[in-house]
Amino acid sequence: MTRKVKIGNLFIGGGEKIAVQSMATRKTCTEQAAREAEELERAGCDILRFSVLDRADAAAFNAIKKRVKMPLVADIHFDYRLALAAIDGGADKIRINPGNIGSEAGVKQVAEAAKANGIPVRVGSNTGSIEKDFLLKYGRNEIALGESALKQVAILEKYGVNDIVISVKASSVPLTVKAYEYIAAKTDYPLHLGVTEAGTEYGGTIKNAAALGALILRGVGDTIRVSLSADPVREVVAAKTLLSALEKGTGANLIACPTCGRCEWDCMAFAAKTEKYLATVNKPIKVAVMGCVVNGIGESADADVGVAGAKGGCVIFSHGKVLKTVKREDLEREFFAEIDKCIL
Ligand code: SF4
Repeated sequence: MTRKVKIGNLFIGGGEKIAVQSMATRKTCTEQAAREAEELERAGCDILRFSVLDRADAAAFNAIKKRVKMPLVADIHFDYRLALAAIDGGADKIRINPGNIGSEAGVKQVAEAAKANGIPVRVGSNTGSIEKDFLLKYGRNEIALGESALKQVAILEKYGVNDIVISVKASSVPLTVKAYEYIAAKTDYPLHLGVTEAGTEYGGTIKNAAALGALILRGVGDTIRVSLSADPVREVVAAKTLLSALEKGTGANLIACPTCGRCEWDCMAFAAKTEKYLATVNKPIKVAVMGCVVNGIGESADADVGVAGAKGGCVIFSHGKVLKTVKREDLEREFFAEIDKCIL
């Protein structure tokens, strides 16, 4: 098991629930960034990262923290002074690459400030930032990714930082899985999982689900970002859905049948409506939307609440037992009321 690291009011690692992360797309020091943070928190984001490009961005964290409860991460490249300013500005965690943050004296100052303020640091590598020596020695593979990250960890440890989170990302699914397995065998620091440059919402979600799913089912991974070329709210929705599918989440798990000739109602449209309704549910309930009573009730017998099409209406059931039969026009109200009862 990994060790536990505290980020603001949240713990990751050490068996804590897997935290969902995303990254703001607006400039950090703007009102739009604060609004985006509010929206992402409402969507279920647990930790949000902001890029810090200048001093105004670095100073913005305390103001954003007045608007949201989730911990905020400052992402800094090249200038260690911006990392120091972000720590002063209220960041709960910083993400740096000691290899590009400037002189070792600068890294030392950042490490000391992080330690003094109880702030963890994320370091890591991706296929574009592998250290030259490792690239030459091992090639562009999991060993080079892992060893690059471990070198950064060693630099932080040298200056007394022990609250570290590590990432080793690739855009290739097999390489991402191999790299995280490599690093998980070498360290007990919590791991931030992600597929870098995963792609658009559809393709990127599949890549993330394949890589992160394989790792999480093997017990690897403490926090995830499903990075997508899409609205970050979609990243959070995808991450929460993935965790629910892996039965590691705090959100609802929707079971829905693909329909066949036995289906006599618009089950697919109702499944989509139900998925939307469940998006903000913060309880790991199972909800089923099934085409017919012939197979639907039995196939989703483990659902806390479900609906199946019947002659002239629908039946609502729970754990395989029929609760009531409702007319199609009353279905939405009746079914969502049953979901609400499960959440209470
Ligand atoms: S639940 Fe009914 S409608 Fe859905 S796939 Fe199975 S048999 Fe077909």
